[in-house]
Amino acid sequence: MAVYNTHAIVLRRIPLGETDKIITLMTRDGGKYNAVAKGSRKTTSRLAGATEPLMFLRASLAEGMNLDILTQCEIRESFAALRGDFGLYLRATYSCELLDKTTPERDTVSAPEAFDLLLSTMYVLQRATDPDACVHAYELQLMAQIGYEPQLIECVRCERAFDEAMVHTTVYAPARGGAMCDVCADTAKDETFPLSATARLAMLDLRYEADPRTLAAYALPEGEPRAEIARALRSHLRYRLERDVRSTAFLDAFRLGAMDDIDSLMNPLVPPTKDTP
Ligand SMILES: [Zn+2]
Repeated sequence: MAVYNTHAIVLRRIPLGETDKIITLMTRDGGKYNAVAKGSRKTTSRLAGATEPLMFLRASLAEGMNLDILTQCEIRESFAALRGDFGLYLRATYSCELLDKTTPERDTVSAPEAFDLLLSTMYVLQRATDPDACVHAYELQLMAQIGYEPQLIECVRCERAFDEAMVHTTVYAPARGGAMCDVCADTAKDETFPLSATARLAMLDLRYEADPRTLAAYALPEGEPRAEIARALRSHLRYRLERDVRSTAFLDAFRLGAMDDIDSLMNPLVPPTKDTP
């Protein structure tokens, strides 16, 4: 069995049998794929902690018939600050899930860029002034990498360029994948959401901001523009990915302070108990 070494981020893990896990790894050189971590659910296993989501590993794997097998690993970064804060943990696991949903298996062409973006996002998230700004930058840059970038510079319908003077004029049209001018918004029958110039310009900042220090210090505008950005991106991702990324529901509940709903979100396969008639 050929053994190889790689850098990997654990995106998620599911139990396998009594003591094993299947882990989904994002690797820089080999793309995304599943691997088996034998015995890793035993508390005594040296692989137990290292095979949890968010772990950044130097991993040794043996090529298997179906799935490769994790034989050894060294933790490069455990992101303890993200694990120790529930809000940050939700944002980080959401970022992993979004990458998982948007990345085809073993796609080695786009892997280095996507791997670097996720890893850098987790480092920035650890010391972010505004964690939501960090996540939105990640969403926008990941969408750009895979060709689903929201159109924010000109109207998605008439292609009129937005300029600084058009401060009152845009809405977000998720089905068309971008911002729309007021003239088109009046005549098009699309589902749209308000998108102020403040929100749109902040999204453009985040789309192109590559410096980790600047991102860590970046704060979204407060109030309505912050909500507009979250809504525009959520609806954009829903249209592009054609299904909700499950952990966005956690993140929304957390942001809204509605954590009572978390139990039902965590068990989506369990039907809600019916009220007695
Ligand atoms: Zn237009």
